[in-house]
Amino acid sequence: MTQTRSLIDENGIRTDGRTGNQLRDIQIKVGVIKNADGSALIEFGKNKIIAAVYGPREVHPKHMALTDRCLLRCRYHMSPFSTDTRKNPAPSRREVEISKVIREALQPALMLEDYPRATIDVYIEVLQADGGSRCAGIAAASVALADAGINMRDLVSACAAGKVDDKIVLDINDTEDKEGGADMPVAFMPNHKQITLLQLDGKLNSEEFIACLNEGITGCMKVYEVQRSALMQKYFGNETELKE
Ligand code: ADP
Repeated sequence: MTQTRSLIDENGIRTDGRTGNQLRDIQIKVGVIKNADGSALIEFGKNKIIAAVYGPREVHPKHMALTDRCLLRCRYHMSPFSTDTRKNPAPSRREVEISKVIREALQPALMLEDYPRATIDVYIEVLQADGGSRCAGIAAASVALADAGINMRDLVSACAAGKVDDKIVLDINDTEDKEGGADMPVAFMPNHKQITLLQLDGKLNSEEFIACLNEGITGCMKVYEVQRSALMQKYFGNETELKE
């Protein structure tokens, strides 16, 4: 990733009107798919993503079942109308890879040992993509897993940080993703303080790397507040109070 034009103006304002450490608007609605065991719709800036969870349920084909824990399967998919040019509906190499890293990002938060020989299927469908869709997908999937009543150690929050105009900024948008200097998606378990996904597209020196990672974790903590409020809104009808 080599940046060719300036994406931050003289007042420090980015292409979508945000300041450097400002997150895009996030809204999460829990329980949007009647036929799923758990589901969530996330709007993360202009990203619109649905996550649906099925399970724990019987594994098909049966030989894939694990005797000591639950099999976790994830599918991240972009719908043909989610991008400016029609996306081929067949799963691309990128989607296969993102499905794998999302599974690995969610797995540490799940008590899979509680459901041996069963499977949990997580479907992440991108309806509209605006950069950072893997992070938004992880945040939605984690809420959908909680909505499905799966035993969890923690939620998983996710947010990208990156480098634009040689500045470290929070929550990279689509233009910054494509034209900026670096993009670092981070997934984080907010209560266990554990990183479950860390990727980097672009180049950072060691100081920038630490600054970017800290910015990403700060973003995850902000995303966590929205995830928590959305779940409380569904189960307690109250966004502010949580009975510990
Ligand atoms: P993320 O959305 O997690 O940042 P990428 O950096 O790989 O993932 O993708 C960035 C953006 O590139 C997406 O949000 C989308 O707008 C665009 N994009 C990805 N795949 C395609 C595709 N097959 N066709 C058109 N645009 C795409």
